[in-house]
Amino acid sequence: MPPRPALSARDRAARSRLLKLLASAQPLARAGLVTMARVCGKAGCRCAAGDKHVSLYLAARLGRQRQMIYIPADLEDQARALVETGRRVEELLEQISQSSLERLVARKERRRLERKPRR
Ligand SMILES: [Zn+2]
Repeated sequence: MPPRPALSARDRAARSRLLKLLASAQPLARAGLVTMARVCGKAGCRCAAGDKHVSLYLAARLGRQRQMIYIPADLEDQARALVETGRRVEELLEQISQSSLERLVARKERRRLERKPRR
């Protein structure tokens, strides 16, 4: 088997950042942040007059089900951090995936050219 082509600087950087991020043991979530405005139904509440209660939710898969998880105001920063870290991990994974696929395609192409009979 021919030697594996060296990783690009960009790819090495992505792997190193991903490793550091995972090693830091920061919590992360693959989830989306959603803001919803709702009416609580209590008589006389300001929301009845249109000034709805705005709160943050995480749209996430919990077990097998997609759920909207209500986030109390004092946990909003934590929830945002989970999602942000999750996004960074996914971005880095995607970058590594892309360059791995590009290397595979390039390798296939080189092989095809080598096999072509010379004229
Ligand atoms: Zn209300």
